[in-house]
Amino acid sequence: MKNKKVIIIGGVAGGASAATRLRRMDEFAEIIMLERGEFISFANCGLPYYIGGVITSRDALLVQSVEGMRRDFNIDVRNFSEAINIDREKKVLTVKNLVNNEEYQETYDYLVISTGAFPVKPPIKGIDEAETLFTLRNIPDMDNIKAYINKFKPKRATVIGAGFIGIEMAENLHHLGIDVSIVEMANQVMAPVDFEIAQVLHQHMIDKKVNLVLSDGVKEFKNKGKEIVLTSGKSLDTDLIIFAIGVRPENFLAKEAGLKLGERGGIWVDDNLKTTDDSIYAIGDAIEVKDFITKSEAMIPLAGPANKQGRIVADNICGLNKEYDGSMGTSVAKVFDLIVGSTGNNEKILKHKNIDYSVIHIHPGSHAGYYPGASTISMKLLYNKETEQIYGAQAVGMEGVDKRIDVIATAIRAGMKVTELKDLELSYAPPFSSAKDPVNMLGFVADNIINGIVETVQYSEIDELIQEGAFVIDARDDIENTFATIPGTVNIPFPEIRNRINEIPKDKKIFVFCQTGIRAYNTTRILRQRGFEAYNLDGAFKTYQSVYHPDNCMPGEVDDLGKVVVEKSVEVEEKNIIYTPKLVVDASGLQCPGPIIKTFKSLESLNDGEVLEITSTDPGFKKDVKSWVEKTNNTLLDLNDNKNIFTAKILKGKISSRPTNPVTKPSQEDSTIVVFSEDMDKAIAAFIIAQGAASMGKKVSLFFTFWGLNILRKPKKVRVKKSFIEKMFGAMMPRGSKKLPISKMNMLGMGPKMIKSIMKKKNVDSLETMIKSAMDLGVKITACAMSMDIMGIKKEELIDGVEIAGVATYLGDTTTANHNLFI
Ligand SMILES: Cc1cc2nc3c(=O)[nH]c(=O)nc-3n(C[C@H](O)[C@H](O)[C@H](O)COP(=O)(O)OP(=O)(O)OC[C@H]3O[C@@H](n4cnc5c(N)ncnc54)[C@H](O)[C@@H]3O)c2cc1C
Repeated sequence: MKNKKVIIIGGVAGGASAATRLRRMDEFAEIIMLERGEFISFANCGLPYYIGGVITSRDALLVQSVEGMRRDFNIDVRNFSEAINIDREKKVLTVKNLVNNEEYQETYDYLVISTGAFPVKPPIKGIDEAETLFTLRNIPDMDNIKAYINKFKPKRATVIGAGFIGIEMAENLHHLGIDVSIVEMANQVMAPVDFEIAQVLHQHMIDKKVNLVLSDGVKEFKNKGKEIVLTSGKSLDTDLIIFAIGVRPENFLAKEAGLKLGERGGIWVDDNLKTTDDSIYAIGDAIEVKDFITKSEAMIPLAGPANKQGRIVADNICGLNKEYDGSMGTSVAKVFDLIVGSTGNNEKILKHKNIDYSVIHIHPGSHAGYYPGASTISMKLLYNKETEQIYGAQAVGMEGVDKRIDVIATAIRAGMKVTELKDLELSYAPPFSSAKDPVNMLGFVADNIINGIVETVQYSEIDELIQEGAFVIDARDDIENTFATIPGTVNIPFPEIRNRINEIPKDKKIFVFCQTGIRAYNTTRILRQRGFEAYNLDGAFKTYQSVYHPDNCMPGEVDDLGKVVVEKSVEVEEKNIIYTPKLVVDASGLQCPGPIIKTFKSLESLNDGEVLEITSTDPGFKKDVKSWVEKTNNTLLDLNDNKNIFTAKILKGKISSRPTNPVTKPSQEDSTIVVFSEDMDKAIAAFIIAQGAASMGKKVSLFFTFWGLNILRKPKKVRVKKSFIEKMFGAMMPRGSKKLPISKMNMLGMGPKMIKSIMKKKNVDSLETMIKSAMDLGVKITACAMSMDIMGIKKEELIDGVEIAGVATYLGDTTTANHNLFI
């Protein structure tokens, strides 16, 4: 029998896999592998890392050489050889030798097309003249970029397109110390994940000082690629451009040969990876695959599928009947210090295909919280509630992302139901996972939802529900609530829920959230068993926050939309001085604002001038701790970021007031008063005490919360944007010190009038005068941000000189107080 003759076009991922498998299956076949370029079987995926200097050996990228493949596999490898025409009838391939430009013909029994995909380069004005512009597909591209960087030492680089290659290039250029901008036309990076997951990446890249330009495209390249004009009209100066907006299947040969192409231009293949010609197979980035989940056609240019398809076609050419049952797009990428991974369909695709789906967001730890170095993984799972089919999953975090995505990818392929994720027995020891692995947790949540134990709403729905008058409980501690919350919600910390059950309306739907979902889950279980219609906010505040105010979990100004505007961080002070910490605390594994709460509590136990060293793995900590020390008048001495472990050294108090003997106790002579009541008599009492204490030289702090806030309202109506309910509420409450009732004998307003007249007769200052003179004496008057939010009181409505702050500020004041009154 005549030995079969197989020609493989393309000598890298798919082509080289097909060739070597073929040899293992058939020792006697004549195998020719054509490659247009110089190199075969190189590691495309490593190219960005060589440019960035992370991979230092160029040779390490050359997985197999032409000689090696000839020698070890007896394959006729012809590099610099381009297939330029297929004569299907005669089964003849025309090849061009790119060294001498000679053309010749080769007959074949079977042809395998593995020509890959090429970087898209649309005809943007100035693109051909842009000398700074590069695309990255192969070793020569990599060498060109590396040589350019070495020669011109660019200071600024712009990456256009924020897919895998773009982001990896951005990271590697940043690693070289180059200032990097990323321009992306979509509103997010990394299209395989959904927006809320991408937001975590956005924030991280901004933290890394990447200039991230989203929802903007390139209009024109000017000045030979030194200037990029964007569609928004903005422009960027740059020394280097990496153009990575996507790839297109290299389908020219197939198209000219009359082979069927798919809708997206990829070569059409059947389940055996055969084209419309029985003798021609096609694999890799050049083909259109079946989406494993939806069974529809898709372009999924990834190395794993290309390699596996190479093996399948080799088997089929050797008479086996192997099928490729589709790609799921399982992928992972390193984005600076984060890892992002996904498998299956995302929400955008499911929506686009009109597929009914449900969503779960969770934020588990990467491993047991008590073992050092744990960090949060934010995960999203998409599934069908009725059939329990898993559609896809996405995750972002600092460690353990890849293994969770791989487990779910395996579960999808095995056809497991979403609730079966809870039954998976996965390896566990504290440094690696938790006894309930994050994948199990997804299964538990799905099980609860499917069995009606829990009902959820999404982060994107909650604002509208609040506007419609929903009762939304923030089940976090009040200190967390003060840092930031969803406007229009009520703070009932989880431990208080049973005692405060009467505050919750029975005739309304109740929505509950906490930081990551667990306390809200416990709360809704209590409420549901007590007859309330209670829902959880899926993904909790962490997901909501990552979308609406991702920078920080600290309080700040509120913008027109009612979202928190994050304040600017302070710089680290006196970075180079070495202070010995009095207390070392490990807050690893705690999520925002856990590390900040721990910081606060730990500092409480220290004296002024003593130093706390606290370690956290929460990425937000880096920013939060800077804002927090500033707000609380402490001093950040050092903030060290060592491979995602953040260590802050904080000096209690201001550095200028650092006592020579750090063991000296603080004076403990100050005075703090919480003013909760709006009764005029109580307000007068508060201000009399405050003035008295201030005149004795004490520092006095009055913290106005809930009804007490009405004392601070301006007497005249101020025009501010309010919801209907806030307006109603505002109208029902007394506007300022002149309108206050008294606690006893109010007698429809007669009582206050009588008291005022008596005070006048007896020469006692009016409440308004008392407030003014207290301020003149330096009494600190603070309005509680959280109460203002709940009561719909805006800062413009308060009298001048009032500070707005959270409970943390007030608690900070109490540390030096020898009495603390509640009025
Ligand atoms: C920078 C970069 C990073 C990547 N990172 C990852 C990653 O981390 N993970 C991942 O899964 N995937 C990654 N990929 C994608 C992955 O490399 C591809 O999916 C995979 O290589 C596709 O294999 P292929 O055989 O279809 O095409 P390729 O590996 O691209 O091989 C095609 C070859 O065919 C040759 N060729 C084309 N036409 C002809 C012709 N007419 N005659 C002769 N030769 C021809 C080309 O020169 C090319 O060398 C990355 C790709 C790039 C460029």
